[in-house]
Amino acid sequence: MTDTVLQSFTNRELQMRKEAATPRGVSTTFDFYASRAENSEIWDVEGRRFIDFAGGIAVNNVGHRHPRVVRALNEQLAQFIHTCYQVVPYASYVQFAERMNQITPGSHQKKTAFFSTGAEAIENAVKIARAATNRPAIIAFSGGFHGRTLMAMALTGKMVPYKVGFGPFPNEVFHVPFPNALHGVTVEQSLHALQSLFKADIDPQRVAAMIVEPVQGEGGFYVAPKEFLVALRSLCDEHQILLIVDEVQTGFGRTGKMFAIEHYGLLPDLMTFGKSVADGMPLTGVCGRAEIMDAPAPGGLGGTYAGNPLALAAANAVLDIFEQEALLARANVLGGRLKESLESLRDAVPQIAEVRGLGAMIGVEFCQPGSNTPNPDFAKQVQARALDRGLLLLTCGIYANVIRFMFPLTISDPLMAEGFEILRSALLDSAAKRVSVPA
Ligand code: PMP
Repeated sequence: MTDTVLQSFTNRELQMRKEAATPRGVSTTFDFYASRAENSEIWDVEGRRFIDFAGGIAVNNVGHRHPRVVRALNEQLAQFIHTCYQVVPYASYVQFAERMNQITPGSHQKKTAFFSTGAEAIENAVKIARAATNRPAIIAFSGGFHGRTLMAMALTGKMVPYKVGFGPFPNEVFHVPFPNALHGVTVEQSLHALQSLFKADIDPQRVAAMIVEPVQGEGGFYVAPKEFLVALRSLCDEHQILLIVDEVQTGFGRTGKMFAIEHYGLLPDLMTFGKSVADGMPLTGVCGRAEIMDAPAPGGLGGTYAGNPLALAAANAVLDIFEQEALLARANVLGGRLKESLESLRDAVPQIAEVRGLGAMIGVEFCQPGSNTPNPDFAKQVQARALDRGLLLLTCGIYANVIRFMFPLTISDPLMAEGFEILRSALLDSAAKRVSVPA
């Protein structure tokens, strides 16, 4: 039985219907339509197969339809789909909260609440921080991404396309430059900007929280320098400001540790998580110090679908998979190999300005050869050539000049090698301008 027999629409037909039926604001990276997916491969409605290095934007760390996840979902389907946790609670919510409290860094007492989207987790982290401190302001960082709802968007440090046309933004939100050695922002400059903010704009005693990604995701896979996060932690301690670490993209094993903040040896007060936690089922959450998490009064947190039973069944299975398949070690192996291979192409591809990342959260940034002038066209060309050859890649970055790799950590060695070979030829051909591909 072929895929084309199963599906009666072509990509082109669906694309035309999509353009008529859905707003352009919900844009899509690719113009083919998914028919099925298995571990690290996706097939479209016309039967074409792609190797997936996009992972649904960092969601499929355990691969598409991992058998344990599918089994857990089927078992849950046979029991109940929805009761609303806040009406009739269920054990899987409590169990996964206990597991999160255990696996997140720090042996202090923690509590966890679940939500459905990353943005919703961010909104709730802000609510919790304000309730706990009785302070209004939140400090975030340029280039950071925290979601598309109003508060999460306000915290996001990138105007186009996330914020343009959507103001006014909630007040009491401040941005400070994120350190970026390649583009000339030192840790000292970032910290100086923070001190200036305290002098000029907001009394630190009025700041509820700072929110930071240990590795900026959408912003370009820029890794926060250790001394920067250590300095933020001590500034927070000095002024009784809460430190929120947004692990929505870095979390669930991507960086070779369960959470990226573990690379830094410091403890956040609150952590947001999402994406790969439930292998594609909508589950996110906030985990934090018990006394802070308990600040909002009963009824202050929650949502109709927050902590959906199917999503929690998947999440409990995902954690089992991490434990049983040693995926953290695998993340380090795969990321190390990729980094090495990309580094080996530097001479042949002078547009490669930097290969960076932690574990398997690897990005490659392209600039004009011999300079640090961003080269987004080159990233686009590599992406287009890879797509032609059946490999899905996503770009990111404040300058849109970074390709980020989000293949499942369960990818087989042969498939990884096949994907890398496509990437290599796409890079070499783009550098040599061998085949013309419309950008
Ligand atoms: N925080 C970070 C760090 C993210 O990368 C994202 C999504 N890219 C979000 C928050 C928002 O998540 P969602 O799209 O699920 O609302």
